[in-house]
Amino acid sequence: MRNIILFGAPGAGKGTQSAIIREKFDFAYISTGEILRSEIKNGTQLGKQAEEIINRGELVSDSIIVGMIQSFIEKNNGKDLLLDGFPRTVKQAEALDGILKELNRGEAKVVELAVDKDVLMQRLLKRAEIEGRKDDNEQTIRERFNQYDKKTAAVADYYKQKGGYISIDGQNGTPEQISVKLIEVLEKL
Ligand code: UDP
Ligand code: MG
Repeated sequence: MRNIILFGAPGAGKGTQSAIIREKFDFAYISTGEILRSEIKNGTQLGKQAEEIINRGELVSDSIIVGMIQSFIEKNNGKDLLLDGFPRTVKQAEALDGILKELNRGEAKVVELAVDKDVLMQRLLKRAEIEGRKDDNEQTIRERFNQYDKKTAAVADYYKQKGGYISIDGQNGTPEQISVKLIEVLEKL
C-alpha cells in the first residue's frame, strides 16, 4: 500500500494537485486543513479551538492532528493513501511512521511541490479574493510561512535522511502541466 505525502508550503498547490491526481488514482485522501475548516463550519468544540489558531496562522497541536490521521488511516487501511497538509512537524512525521509500521503499510514517500515564497504570497492573496478564506490575509500568511520555516521545513529533512523524498517544480506551468510531472513521479513510487 502506498503512503504518499503531498508536501509544500501554504499555497504550493497541494489541494489543487490532489483534486487532479485523484481522478487518475484511487487514493484514500485526507486534508487535515479541510477537516479543520469543516469542524469550524459545523461549530464543533474542536472547530472553535482550531478557529483562533488558524486565524493566527499557527498550528493545531500534534496530538489533535495525529488523532485525526490515525483514525482515518485505520478506517481506510487496505487503500493507497494521499496525505495533504500532513505531517507539518517532525513529531507528526514520527507518529505517522509508527502508525504505518503498526499497520504494516510500508514507508511514506514525499513529493514536494516547490514554489518560491513571493509567488506563494501572490497566489494566496489571489485565492483570498476567490475563496474568501479568513487566514489568506497578508499578516496571517506571513505567520503561516514563519511556522512552515520553523516547524514544517524540518519534515523535508527528516524524509530526505530516511529516503523517499522527491521535489518537483510546482511553480512554472499550469496546474495541468504540473500534474503531468506529478503523475509521472507517482507512477514510479
Ligand atoms: N492546520 C494545522 N494542521 C494541519 C492542517 C492545517 O494546524 O494539519 C491549520 C494551520 O493553521 C494552517 C491552516 O490550518 O495554517 C490551513 O491549512 P491548509 O493545509 O488548509 O492550508 P495550506 O497550508 O494548504 O494553505
Ligand atoms: Mg491546502
